Amino acid sequence: MRIARFTAGEDPQYGVVAGDLDQYGQPDEDAVVVALAGDPLYVGVKLLEQEHRLADVRLLAPVLPRSKVVGIGRNYAAHAAELGNDVPAEPLMFLKPNTSVVGPGDPIFYPPQTSNLQYEGELAVVIGRICRDVPPEQATDVIHGYTIANDVTARDLQKSDVQFTRAKGFDSFCPLGPWI
Ligand code: MG
Repeated sequence: MRIARFTAGEDPQYGVVAGDLDQYGQPDEDAVVVALAGDPLYVGVKLLEQEHRLADVRLLAPVLPRSKVVGIGRNYAAHAAELGNDVPAEPLMFLKPNTSVVGPGDPIFYPPQTSNLQYEGELAVVIGRICRDVPPEQATDVIHGYTIANDVTARDLQKSDVQFTRAKGFDSFCPLGPWI
């Protein structure tokens, strides 16, 4: 199931995207989005008798993180090597504020403080409920779904700052979507 968040010109809604995808994951022109009642994260998937052509709606970030986005760094060996870093024994973790989240087609703000803005394509895991100390064998119980993130990074600021807050935290530095 592909759960999107969209606007058809009015208040944002959630919906299920129906239709075939091509080999690049792009929906065909007959694809539709069937609206849902409420936020499926809280009320489950309740279909409404309301449908739009996917081409006629604007897709928004499919989830609005209530608190933050947790990033994992240096887990791609080739990317770590590209930047001259070793792969650490434990994952390097950082946060992106929820204010960095935008929709899949929204513009990315290019801050004047950087002259080296880079994209990082990421698998994003959407956690469906408040949780902590989840044992690995129960991790899938708290996963709502998966989407795609762009971990936009000001590479020069990442190098010059001690930590990643500024380099990865600007507004619009976490496009999400198109759907979960
Ligand atoms: Mg990244």
